[in-house]
Amino acid sequence: MDVAGTRGKLAHEAAALDEADALYGKRAAFALDEDTVYLDGNSLGALPVAVSARLAEVVGHEWGRLRIRAWDEAGWWASPERIGDRVGRLVGAAPGQVVVGDSTSVNVFKAVVAAVRMARERSADRDEILVDAATFPTDGYIAESAARLTGCRIRAVAAGAMTGEMGERTAVALVNHVDYRTGRLHDLPGVTASAHAAGALVVWDLCHSAGALPVGLDAHGVDFAVGCTYKYLNGGPGSPAYLYVRREHQPRFDSPLPGWNSHSEPFAMSPAYTPADGATRGRVGTPEVLSLLALDTALDVWDDVDLTAVRAKSLALTDFFLRCVEEYVPRGRVESVTPAAHAERGSQVGLRCPGAGAVMGELIRRGVVGDFRPPDVLRFGFTPLYTGFADVERAAGILAGVLGTPLL
Ligand SMILES: *Cc1c(COP(=O)(O)O)cnc(C)c1O
Repeated sequence: MDVAGTRGKLAHEAAALDEADALYGKRAAFALDEDTVYLDGNSLGALPVAVSARLAEVVGHEWGRLRIRAWDEAGWWASPERIGDRVGRLVGAAPGQVVVGDSTSVNVFKAVVAAVRMARERSADRDEILVDAATFPTDGYIAESAARLTGCRIRAVAAGAMTGEMGERTAVALVNHVDYRTGRLHDLPGVTASAHAAGALVVWDLCHSAGALPVGLDAHGVDFAVGCTYKYLNGGPGSPAYLYVRREHQPRFDSPLPGWNSHSEPFAMSPAYTPADGATRGRVGTPEVLSLLALDTALDVWDDVDLTAVRAKSLALTDFFLRCVEEYVPRGRVESVTPAAHAERGSQVGLRCPGAGAVMGELIRRGVVGDFRPPDVLRFGFTPLYTGFADVERAAGILAGVLGTPLL
């Protein structure tokens, strides 16, 4: 079959897949343009339309009229824990273990230092922090500083090799659940179990998995987890991140940032610090109320969504994209860096391509928004709540057009 025939066939198949997609209706809950295929929801999720009116109400009524009373009457004060429970449902955490606030970077700091302190209680000579060798850079920078502060050393280990590298000196392993560049999904149950077998603790960074696939924090015995809310959870630019502290660890969670919001009686204004119980210990200072409440409304979209259905659609979308690319793009122009095996794939596809920066610029000009990660990766994120199969087919067709252009 010629390319035009293949395109017709795949476009037809895409239409049928969209027709049969139980999540297709969710797309209407998001602000999207008809003429653009948005494949960058793994960097900044699209706006859930209900957020605008809710924010106007929060600003106009709660801030504008209730003013200071809103901390109690509008529930502002307790919102980090309340919204934490909503995030918790999406990452397999029972209520009372997730608190929302601060950035992922800050939560990495809290979790890593607290984990080292806990590991040291068990055995004073644990002095090694293992860090995912391909980690998103901020985790590595923060872990490096946490190591200096706690007298540990850092060892970079490929996430796939972590299980064999934990020993009696290991205090904590800090691992990205999904690699931000390649989209590789790491073995959360396996790495967690091997950390525990070695007497170590594990901190998972869920930035690229929460909202894209089931995580199962409680089920797999994870100690600590962090993640952002502006990617697959669509909380908006700079929406606060979250921290999961497993319930059994909470009494010993010794935060390196014990701000007044984590005090058992914050309004007693006591000079002595007494930590609150539960997930509240993960709080630091005054919560980011406007962005927290934008996130709260963004999470409404998930209320009736089953993460297994999201995962199934995500894999179907990435499979379909890889197939369309294979059929349309001239051979040898791109090479997938994303694992073919479902068990090792997150919800994005990375394509290595010479001149990737310029290629992405042209794709965006033609209405396909992905992003570029140095040195040579075109990155496409697939958000099952609002990406359809016809979008995927169209994106691959436009990519083929760009790569067929001799100029690039
Ligand atoms: C996006 C992302 C972050 C972002 O960190 P912030 O402090 O929230 O800016 C951290 N880690 C990973 C793995 C990410 O993908």
